[in-house]
Amino acid sequence: MMQHLFTCLSCGYPCQKRTVSVNLPRSGGGIAVFRNVTAEVCTQCGEMHFTLLTTSRMIAIVQGFSPPDDMELVPVYDMQRASG
Ligand SMILES: [Zn+2]
Repeated sequence: MMQHLFTCLSCGYPCQKRTVSVNLPRSGGGIAVFRNVTAEVCTQCGEMHFTLLTTSRMIAIVQGFSPPDDMELVPVYDMQRASG
């Protein structure tokens, strides 16, 4: 029986199929949050790999004007902010 096994492009360890959240910068500013994204996640380094279809769908959404399913306020922390 053939078992589909995706290996990490960075370290070569096997990946596991997981459902993850992904944040991507939007072309209009801010970030877009994707929930329930199917990804192959490396069991060694944690790198996420997406299929070409998933990647192209996410890119099309952040570059387009698709109405989001939900809106969240996202806290932003500026590490370069002068203190005091
Ligand atoms: Zn890896």
